[in-house]
Amino acid sequence: MRWTQTFIPTLKETPAEAEIASHKLLLRAGLIRKLAGGLYTFLPLGLRALKKVEQIVREEMDRAGALEILMPALQPPEIWQQSGRYETAKGVLFKAFDRAKKEWVLGPTHEEAITTLMSGELSSYRQLPKNFYQIQTKFRDEIRPRFGLMRTREFIMKDAYSFDATDEGCAAAYQKMFDAYTRIFQRCGLRAFAVEADTGVMGGKFSHEFMVPAETGENEIVSCDACHRSANIEKAASRVAKVPPDAVPARGAGATSSAAPEKFPTPGVVTIEALAAAPFNVPPERQIKTLVYIVADKAVLILLRGDHQLNEAKLTGAVGTAAFRPAEPEEIFTALRAHPGSLGAVGVKHLPVYADEALQGAAGMTTGANEDGFHLRQVEIARDIQAALWSDLRLVRAGEPCVHCGRPLSIQRAIEVGHLFKLGTKYSKALNALFLDESGKQQPAIMGSYGIGIARTLQAVIEQSHDKDGILWPIAIAPCAVCLTPLTVAPDSAVMQLAEKIYADLTAKGIDVILDDRDERPGFKFKDSELVGFPIRLAIGEKSLAKGEVELKRRGGQMTLVKIEDAVPKVLEMLQS
Ligand SMILES: [Zn+2]
Repeated sequence: MRWTQTFIPTLKETPAEAEIASHKLLLRAGLIRKLAGGLYTFLPLGLRALKKVEQIVREEMDRAGALEILMPALQPPEIWQQSGRYETAKGVLFKAFDRAKKEWVLGPTHEEAITTLMSGELSSYRQLPKNFYQIQTKFRDEIRPRFGLMRTREFIMKDAYSFDATDEGCAAAYQKMFDAYTRIFQRCGLRAFAVEADTGVMGGKFSHEFMVPAETGENEIVSCDACHRSANIEKAASRVAKVPPDAVPARGAGATSSAAPEKFPTPGVVTIEALAAAPFNVPPERQIKTLVYIVADKAVLILLRGDHQLNEAKLTGAVGTAAFRPAEPEEIFTALRAHPGSLGAVGVKHLPVYADEALQGAAGMTTGANEDGFHLRQVEIARDIQAALWSDLRLVRAGEPCVHCGRPLSIQRAIEVGHLFKLGTKYSKALNALFLDESGKQQPAIMGSYGIGIARTLQAVIEQSHDKDGILWPIAIAPCAVCLTPLTVAPDSAVMQLAEKIYADLTAKGIDVILDDRDERPGFKFKDSELVGFPIRLAIGEKSLAKGEVELKRRGGQMTLVKIEDAVPKVLEMLQS
């Protein structure tokens, strides 16, 4: 590749649209350009790097025994209705209409499509196991595309779907994908680690995400350094000490345990903070926070300690559906005859009450009285509140004790690059991917689903691997491994002739080389080469050439002089290491 013949529109200035380092560098290095919000064009060098990530993914999927196919991006809505996701995923489904005004779906994922394929093909356990994958463009009606390739409306995914006859078979398929993912991210030069992820309405242990630690990541990971466990915050649990029942710091010294809660006026007090302040002085951990949610069209009360936050992913697991939302003010008033800030569950029998485990056994608590301007104190959960469900519903906070060893948990931000998920029989039942087992009995196939964001992985590499001058590509996915930089480019000069010879030698050995044949100042060319981030730079100038030497530099390392005849072997050696 010759610089003057390709298209690398590097930028000196950082475009205003970019917020994070990797997005800035993708634009500045001339790898991508924006067409519209969440829609990007890959320019020649960006596409080269993307193809290299794809190739690594492909090789590792093939090695794990998965079979490459290609399914349509455009899908009939009927299969989405059949799986139930036409409703549950409607917030992100892109729709299209044909000339007859018939509706179509632009797939954000392909569980429905692959299961429909298998329902037509699968008949016997002898055909199993199977794992199919594709590398394909997907669509998501993203409300707020941001961070370049991190969150887009159109994106490239590798998605794989395993079909097994038994749970053991599915577990083995899952483990194979786990191992393949570990190799893929290693080969891409990415420091990624697996965390336990939320399984939503599925339950069970089979869900992991591969995460890349990054300040700018949109996920939060809870980790215990002592027992080396990590989990997505959606899934993470912690041990929280119970509030001791005796230490009742209610207002005044005269507060004693009584047979029933005591109502007291709290005019204008509608927040946890206000009740924690003078003159009431009720610490947040002594308050019961009452939330009203509409779960499957019915109002439900959710109770948490005043200092805790609801984790909606855990609520999904607890109630077995993601079809819920916070109630609107009118719905709250209809349900409890009071406004937010004065709500409580004492004596409530007409609505289900779901309580977080941290409240179990709590006494001497304060909560809203379901009468505006009043609260109740001396509330004893076991005595005064009828909870239909006790569950872990709260968001873990940094510093809370690990459930396994009790040491404090830490929270860090990360970018999700891959996801493994045991689907079970949800889709095979809904879409009839059935087979006859050894005893001739009809069974639904047990499925797994495994995704990798290809472009996101590429950007995560840049986010993790850059310096003030530009990108530091790992050799495996660099657009070109070597940048050959003659400092004079006159075709008949000795410098250019040597550059052409080394270019031909390296290319013949299968090395991706870019020859910077631009007639520009050396400093300008070096800056561009650092910005784009080619791992090895081989510069040839008149001065060093006179001494029989060329300049070799690893990106981010020191420049060294090597003899002309050693240049190619030395580059090959650097590419190996
Ligand atoms: Zn631990």
